Amino acid sequence: MKLLPNTLAFRLTFWYTLVVIILITIAFNASYFLLSKALDHDMEQDLIEDIGEFRTLYQKAGLAGVKQEINRDLMKSGEEERIFFQLFNQQGERMYSSDLSYWAFLPDSRDWVKRVISSEQVIFQAMVMPEEEVEVKAAYGLIAPGLVLYFGESTEDTQELMELLSQVFIAMLLMAIPFASMVSWVVAGRSVKGIKEVSRIASAIEKGNLQRRVSVLSQGSEISQLVDTFNAMLDRIWLLISEMKEMTDNIAHDLRSPLARIRMISESVLSNENTPQVFKTAASDTIEECDRLLQIINSSLDVAEAEAGVLQAPKTQVNVSGLVQDACELFEIMAEQKDISLLCRLATDCYIQGEAQSLQRMLANLIDNAIKYTQAEGKVVVELSRDCQQIEISVSDTGIGIPEGDQARAFDRFFRCDQSRTLDGCGLGLSYSRAVAHSHGGDILLNSSEQGSQFTIQLPI
Ligand code: ADP
Repeated sequence: MKLLPNTLAFRLTFWYTLVVIILITIAFNASYFLLSKALDHDMEQDLIEDIGEFRTLYQKAGLAGVKQEINRDLMKSGEEERIFFQLFNQQGERMYSSDLSYWAFLPDSRDWVKRVISSEQVIFQAMVMPEEEVEVKAAYGLIAPGLVLYFGESTEDTQELMELLSQVFIAMLLMAIPFASMVSWVVAGRSVKGIKEVSRIASAIEKGNLQRRVSVLSQGSEISQLVDTFNAMLDRIWLLISEMKEMTDNIAHDLRSPLARIRMISESVLSNENTPQVFKTAASDTIEECDRLLQIINSSLDVAEAEAGVLQAPKTQVNVSGLVQDACELFEIMAEQKDISLLCRLATDCYIQGEAQSLQRMLANLIDNAIKYTQAEGKVVVELSRDCQQIEISVSDTGIGIPEGDQARAFDRFFRCDQSRTLDGCGLGLSYSRAVAHSHGGDILLNSSEQGSQFTIQLPI
C-alpha cells in the first residue's frame, strides 16, 4: 500500500520544503557560530581592558587602591558566585582574594602565575562550573612587577542569550515548515498545471477527436515546447491518416474498374453460347486486367518502399551520364512512333553515390510521361548538367501541361489530372520518382504551363 502520493507536485513540494529547512538550519548554525565567536572575543577584550585599568590603578593608588576597586566591583555585581578576584605575589602565594566559597573548583594557580610573570602576557582560562554547568571565562594578568591579578566571571548571561536564540530558531523553523510547504505546493501546482492540461487534452484526443489541439498559454518555455511538440505530432498523425485514407480511397477506386471489367467479361462469357475463339479473347482480356491490377499493387508497394527509405541502402557509384544516355535510347522508338522529336543534351562524367535501378525507373517515368502527355509533332528535351555541388536532369516537353491548381498535388499518390484520365496510367509514377529523389538526398521541381512541362531532378554529388 502506498502511504504517500506519487505525484510530481507532491515530490516537488517535498523537495522544496526539505531544501528550505536545510538552508534555514545552515544559516542558523552559521549565525550561531559567528555570534558566539564574537561574544567570546568581546569578553576577552573586556578582560584585557580590566587588567590594564587595574595596572593604572596600582600605579596611582598602590595595592590598597586595587583592593578597594575589587571590593567595589564585587559590590556592583552583587553576586559572588558570578565573579571572583585573586592577587598573587611572585612566589605564587595568594595575597588577597574575594569570597571563594563558590569557586572551590578553580585549579591550582602556581604554574599559571609563573607563566604570566615570565611571559608578561595575559593568559585566558575557560572552565565549566561543576553542578551548574555554566561556563567561566577567566584571565591572569600582570598589574605590577611580581603582582598577578587572576579574575574571572561566569558567562551565564551569554549562555542564556544563546539558548534563547536557539529556542527562537526552533519556533521559527516550526512556523516555516508549514509555510514553506504551502508556498512549495502552490509553486509546484503552477509548474505542473501545463503538464496536467496537456495530459487532460491528450486523453480527450485519445478518446475521439484527432483534430483537437492543446492550447496552453504562458506556462514556461518547457511546457510550451512540450505543447508544440505534441501538437506537431498530432499534425503529423493527422496528415498520415488523411494520406492513408486518400490512398485507400484511390486504391479502391482504381482497383474497382479492372475488377468490374473482369466481372463483365466473365458474365458475358457465361450468359451466351460461345465459340472457343470468344473464350480465348475473354481469357486474354482477363489476363490484361489482372496485369493492370498487379501493376497498381506493385507500384503502390514500390512507392511505399521508396518513401520508407528502403532505397537508401546499398548505394554504389552510378554513372548518371550513361544512365540518361541509355534511357534516351530506350525511348527513341516510342517517341518516333508518336512523331515526337526526342533530344538529349548530356554532360559527360557525372557520377553520384546511389541506387542505379531506382534512378533508372525515376528517369523512365519522367520521359515516359513527357512522351505520353505530348501530342504528335511535339518535342521532348532531356538535359543533364552538373556543378560542383549537384547534378541536374531536366525533362521538358511541349505537351498538354499541368493546370496550376493541380501542380501541388501532381506528386501525390494516385493523383491524375482530369485531362489525362483517358490515357493509360495509375498516378503513381511521379510519387515514386519523388520518393527516389528524396532517398538520394535530392528533389524534383515542377514547372508547367499550357505550353508544356519541365521536371527538374536535383541530386547532390
Ligand atoms: P500517370 O501514371 O497517370 O502518368 P504520374 O504519377 O506519372 O501518373 O503522373 C500523375 C499525373 O500528372 C498524370 O496523370 C498527369 O495528369 C500529370 N502529368 C505527369 N507528367 C506530365 C507531363 N509531362 N505533362 C502533363 N501532365 C503530366
